[in-house]
Amino acid sequence: MKKHHGAFIKNENEIASLREANRMVANILDAAGDLISPGITTMRLEELARDMCADYGVRPAFLGYHGFSFALCCSVNEQVVHGFPSNRLLQEGDIVSIDMGVVFEGFVGDSARTWPVGEVSDTAAKLVRITEESLYVGIDRARAGNDVYDIGAAVQEYVETAGFNVVRRFVGHGIGTRMHEKPEVPNFRQTMRGMTLQNGMVIAIEPMVTVGGYEVKILDDNWTAVTCDGQYAAHFEHSIVVTPQGPKILSISDRGFRKAGVRMPLDSALI
Ligand code: MG
Ligand code: MG
Repeated sequence: MKKHHGAFIKNENEIASLREANRMVANILDAAGDLISPGITTMRLEELARDMCADYGVRPAFLGYHGFSFALCCSVNEQVVHGFPSNRLLQEGDIVSIDMGVVFEGFVGDSARTWPVGEVSDTAAKLVRITEESLYVGIDRARAGNDVYDIGAAVQEYVETAGFNVVRRFVGHGIGTRMHEKPEVPNFRQTMRGMTLQNGMVIAIEPMVTVGGYEVKILDDNWTAVTCDGQYAAHFEHSIVVTPQGPKILSISDRGFRKAGVRMPLDSALI
């Protein structure tokens, strides 16, 4: 085992555990995506996630986190993040964001994606595509020597150029034995300088993007974040490690991570 360099730097064994935790999360997201269609409930996705966690012998990371009652966050349409799975039927034209975490050998995996449900509007389809692309634009800045805030500056630039907005209320984060570690990883420009990225740092980058304004409010359930103007929001998240070869995505499923039709502004070091 390599020497442990400090709280933010993970050694090879820790990264291997984080990779495995995130592989499980990504496989669960793949399976959820296969089920998403008009007429299924978001609770069906919750059941799937719990079943797969049981099969893997891992604990869902969100269940019980600050009192959260589910394995998944399911956020539909104007819901941005932290929505509850429910008996709500997904309908043609909806978009649904699933955020999932597991704890494997004490290490937390964390990843999220948004899917269109059946045929969606051109605007909704573009929102999903731009949000996913903005994640990869951000990941590409996660290189040793860069400022952690370079990530959000690049995400915001990409999103706003496409005519959308980035949520300020929630940020990405370092991740390891705890789900939320330092540093914070905002998805938008900062006025100050932040931490310098170093090899071995593991962070979750997770842009939340809105069609309209970026302001959000929390519903009376104390969790569900919705856009104030009621317009759609999308959310994509990968956990990545900074390496001498560049950023490496940890939340890669057994199927891989490329999606047809999505432009990937990446260099080969990422794969
Ligand atoms: Mg997450
Ligand atoms: Mg996260």
